[in-house]
Amino acid sequence: MCLKKKKDTCTDSTVDAALSEAARLLAHAPQNRMRKERELVIHRETLASLADRLASEPADVPYCLNLQISPEQKNMVALMRAYRTCVEKGVLQNRKVRWTGPAKLLRYIGTAAGKIFTGPRMVQINIANRCNLDCIFCWVHSPFAPPAPGEWKRTRITMPVFRQTVTGLGRIGTGGILFSGQGEPFTHPQIDDMISLVKQEDIRLEIQTNLHLVDVEKVAALGVDKLHVNLSAASEETYREVHPAEKPGSFKRLRQKLDALQEMRVKGRHAPEVEFIHVIHTRNYHEIPRMIELAADYDASGIFLKMMETNDHVLHLLPAEADRESMAERLKEAENLASRHGVNANFSGFGYQLSHVDDTGEFSAGLYDRIGCYMGWFFVRVNLDGNVSFCCKDKFLDRVTPSRSLSDIWHSVRYHHFRLIAKDMDFKKGKGFLDAKCRRCSNFNQNMTIHAILAGENA
Ligand code: SF4
Repeated sequence: MCLKKKKDTCTDSTVDAALSEAARLLAHAPQNRMRKERELVIHRETLASLADRLASEPADVPYCLNLQISPEQKNMVALMRAYRTCVEKGVLQNRKVRWTGPAKLLRYIGTAAGKIFTGPRMVQINIANRCNLDCIFCWVHSPFAPPAPGEWKRTRITMPVFRQTVTGLGRIGTGGILFSGQGEPFTHPQIDDMISLVKQEDIRLEIQTNLHLVDVEKVAALGVDKLHVNLSAASEETYREVHPAEKPGSFKRLRQKLDALQEMRVKGRHAPEVEFIHVIHTRNYHEIPRMIELAADYDASGIFLKMMETNDHVLHLLPAEADRESMAERLKEAENLASRHGVNANFSGFGYQLSHVDDTGEFSAGLYDRIGCYMGWFFVRVNLDGNVSFCCKDKFLDRVTPSRSLSDIWHSVRYHHFRLIAKDMDFKKGKGFLDAKCRRCSNFNQNMTIHAILAGENA
């Protein structure tokens, strides 16, 4: 019980003195007065030196450490190594520890400690099922798939569900929101209102889109921060092969929109940054090097290569073993081009998919038994009906309702239970949750990176 709280604030120059003073006071405090809680606020302290200091003190001293990780503490690997040292030395045990600092760091500390200190890094919201395109690799809109029922296609998120999802997310420290879905977000007639609501929450907004329905002037004026533009081609010819219903000139019109966005940036106006998504399959992998050149042409912030996800209708588009050898060659060529043009691309993640994918499209089997899944601390997805999923797959655990917001769910006991199960990959407790979908996990690369950082390794 805390009878009285005294607060010391330490800065760079005084941190050593403050720690020594705290240690002296605590060491000499009579046992019957040990209920006094001392709060030590530490700025710019590295956990490594803190661990050494605290290791020399009795572990059961009941004081409260208020650890403020400074925004300058950018080296997460060093931070996590120091945290592990603290845990190994047992110096955080039996002490109240309150962590504050940049959300990015708190997410890692929280994951290691099994606690939630801040909001998700990304909230993905599915906006609409309808799409204006017919990408051949798409599970639902591909001409190879049976036509989806009209009622399903017309389903989109309602404004009450959207409002209840977004409200309060800024306050809990959410890093960003991504509009996405099984259809094109810009088919939703209220998308402008939804963009404005996100910006009122003061949260970064990214939108996954095929760009055709985007009014680039309007999205810039509304303050959209990033567009993930799914092209899955780098030429008119391949674009039309991947989108068979498109008329000639369709790819050229997209390039005009990209030109307009680039011109805004050149003139110093706000324009959303652009990243290209390329879903790779047999009909487009030959263009991987050209995809890099296209990104360089438009000064894109990066390209994201993703092996297509399969179901029975589109499995024939999955590159077979011979194709995969040829793809590896293209990938090497693309890496050279990317380093020449300074283009960011997820080569290591895509390379992992390429070397692990089997003939059914599975590529992450066995990975999570070894490393666990950390998405519960970093990510959450809300479907257009308000159902809340743990990750990109349909792993629904809860639902946004008029009396239950997404931020309530994020902090709920139930959600936390699944976070812990997934982290430890406890398949017994997580029955029905950790399942075959984990063998084709869209978040595998993030999980691998987080796992390495938590282990104090360079990702
Ligand atoms: S598919 Fe499985 S392993 Fe991947 S993020 Fe979802 S729960 Fe985690």
